[in-house]
Amino acid sequence: MNLPRIEEYELEQIRNEQENLVWQELIALVKENSSFCHCRDCLLDIGILALNHLPPRYRFSHIHEKNLNQRIANDRILVNQALWNAIRLVTQRPHHDKK
Ligand SMILES: [Zn+2]
Repeated sequence: MNLPRIEEYELEQIRNEQENLVWQELIALVKENSSFCHCRDCLLDIGILALNHLPPRYRFSHIHEKNLNQRIANDRILVNQALWNAIRLVTQRPHHDKK
């Protein structure tokens, strides 16, 4: 039996959509809220912490998924919850002196 070579699967086409969604939603929160620190370090900490608490959403970018918009709408709610949890934790323990 001939196994296909792994390159034939075009691994670079596989994306964790959750990454885009987290950064999009974080940018929206920054524009609407001044209640947390907006420095680069805190925003990166918040995004990374949120991503580490969210299930990944790997998808092959060329294949159209049924009900994709509905799933993204549901994920957006989870992403916002994860971001607010991360904001609370990073605000309590930022990597710099509290202001
Ligand atoms: Zn900060």
